[in-house]
Amino acid sequence: MLLQELKTKGIEVIFLDGIYFKVSPKEKITPELMEEITKQKQKIIQLLKQKAPAFTCPICGNKKYKWNVSKDVWVCESCGMLFKHAKDSDSDIKELSRYLEEFLKQHRGYVLVKSEVLNETIAWTLPAYIKHLQNKGYVCYLPEELACIRQLAPTPDAFRKIHMAKKMFEGKITIQ
Ligand SMILES: [Zn+2]
Repeated sequence: MLLQELKTKGIEVIFLDGIYFKVSPKEKITPELMEEITKQKQKIIQLLKQKAPAFTCPICGNKKYKWNVSKDVWVCESCGMLFKHAKDSDSDIKELSRYLEEFLKQHRGYVLVKSEVLNETIAWTLPAYIKHLQNKGYVCYLPEELACIRQLAPTPDAFRKIHMAKKMFEGKITIQ
């Protein structure tokens, strides 16, 4: 099956707007492979549609996903959030939380995410930077909270409610 073949070859598939896709990196795509991809284009789109998250990214409101072939997860192109097709188990929450922690470390401790869903910029941060960011007026989300939000898989509207509650009570999001 072609998708599997692409994965084996370390080729990334980027699925855009649920309509079309891009493959990269270019140097790994031979003319023969390109011909095969073109031939099977519709079939690939169908498969991607089955695998892609059905919802808009609840954090930032975007619909662009990059399929991380090695981890078999989807990454929101805009904010970097991870999505899995199936509902995550508890161990996946820990795994996602660790991934986000690493991601933040690579970005010097925090990132500011412009959210179309909230019409506001929020901060994803390691605990060390919370005070600093709160003083600047950002609502802060820690890696484990983001992982929990992912587990809840909220609609954009539900995420707005979670955010409002967090803002009002400065509480922490957890899953029982
Ligand atoms: Zn996003």
